[in-house]
Amino acid sequence: MDDLVLSNARLLDGRGGIVERATVRVAGGRVAEVAEGADAEKGGPSFEVVDLSGKTLMPALVDAHVHLSSYPTLPTPLRGEEPRTEALRYFELANFARDLLEMGVLTVRDVGSEGDHALHLRQAVLHGLCPGPRILTCARIVSATSPGCRIFGSMYRPADGPDEVRKAAREQLAAGADFVKIMATGARSVVLENPETTQLTREEVRAVVDEAHRLGHRVAAHAEGLEGARLAIEEGVDTIEHGLSLHREPALLEKMANNGQTLVPTLSTFHDVSEDHAEKYPCALVEQADRQREEAYMTLVAAKAAGVRIAMGFDSYPLGRNARELIRMISGGLTPMEGIAAATSNAAAALGLSDVGAVVPGAVADLLVLDGDPLSEPAILLDADRISLVLQGGATVLEAPRRR
Ligand SMILES: [Zn+2]
Repeated sequence: MDDLVLSNARLLDGRGGIVERATVRVAGGRVAEVAEGADAEKGGPSFEVVDLSGKTLMPALVDAHVHLSSYPTLPTPLRGEEPRTEALRYFELANFARDLLEMGVLTVRDVGSEGDHALHLRQAVLHGLCPGPRILTCARIVSATSPGCRIFGSMYRPADGPDEVRKAAREQLAAGADFVKIMATGARSVVLENPETTQLTREEVRAVVDEAHRLGHRVAAHAEGLEGARLAIEEGVDTIEHGLSLHREPALLEKMANNGQTLVPTLSTFHDVSEDHAEKYPCALVEQADRQREEAYMTLVAAKAAGVRIAMGFDSYPLGRNARELIRMISGGLTPMEGIAAATSNAAAALGLSDVGAVVPGAVADLLVLDGDPLSEPAILLDADRISLVLQGGATVLEAPRRR
C-alpha cells in the first residue's frame, strides 16, 4: 500500500489535543507521523498527498455498546407470503456493517446479539466477505436464570452459582468472545425484572471476573440499580454499562475513577424506551425509562465531576447513527471535545485497544475527514454529506461524493 500524506488539516487527535494545521503521514496502514504545518510536497511515485484545507481530521468513531442483531429491518411476512429464511439475517447484518462503516464507526463492541450473529459477522468482516468495522463481541451474555432469559432467548447464557457462571464465561471465550458480559442487575426492558436489585450474587460476579481476567479478557456489566453497580465496581468489572443510579453515591464514582473503570452511559437507550420507540413498550416500562433517563443524565454529570472515564455507547438504532449518543452526551454536559474523546480514545481504552481511537504515531489509520468543525457543530458527524473521507487501516472505504 502506498504512503498517504494528509496535509493542511485541522486535527483533533481524539485525546483532547488539537492542531490547527497539521500534516499526517500514513504508512503501512498506520499513522506514521503527525507534524504541525502544511506539507509542501506534491506527492510522488510512492505516496499521494491529499490537501485537506478547511477540513477536520479525527479518529474514526469507536462505539463501546452496540447490539448488531437486535434490530431486524424486514417486516414480518403477510399472511400467505413465503416465510423468510433465517439466512436473510446475515444479509441484514452485512448491511448494518456497511452502514456503520459509511458513517465512520470503525470499531464496535457488541454486548449481546442473537445466537452467534456477532461472532459470524466478525469472521465475515475479517475474511473480507463484507465491508465492516472491527467487531469485538461477548458472544452470549452470562445471566442468572431470570425472566429476561425467556425474552432474549439465545442472546443469554443462563448460569447459576459460581462454578456454573465460571463455566458459562469459559464457554463464551471458547466460542471466540473478546470479553465477557454479565447481567449484574435486571433489565429495564423486561416487565418481570426489577432493575434495582442485584441479579448475580457477589460470588458469581467474582467468579466471572476472576476467570476472564486470569485469561486476559475484560468484563462488562449491565448495571442499572445501585447495588448491582456497587457489586460490579467492587469486584473489578472493567466497564459499567448504563450505570444510571451512580449519581446517588458519588463515592462509587470516585472508586471507578481511581480503579480506571469506565462508564458507558447509553443515554440513547433511555430515550428509546421513553420517547423514540415508546409505542413498542408497555406503559410501566415507558414510565420507568422516563425516570431512568433523568437519572442517566445526572450520572453523566456526576461521573464527569468525579473524573470517571466516559465512553460512548449508542445501545440504539439505526446502526450508523451512533453519533446521536455523542450529541446527547454533549447536551448532557460534556464539552464537544470531551464528547469526541468519549467516542474515540476513551471508548478504545474501555475496549482495551491501545492503538485505535487516536491520531498518534503508531495508531491504526482509522480516520475521518469532516467538512467542517465538529467542535462547533457536532451534528456534522450525522450528516453523510459532510463526512468527506473514511479511511480504514489507511485504505479509503468511502470518499465523497457518496455512492448512494
Ligand atoms: Zn445494550
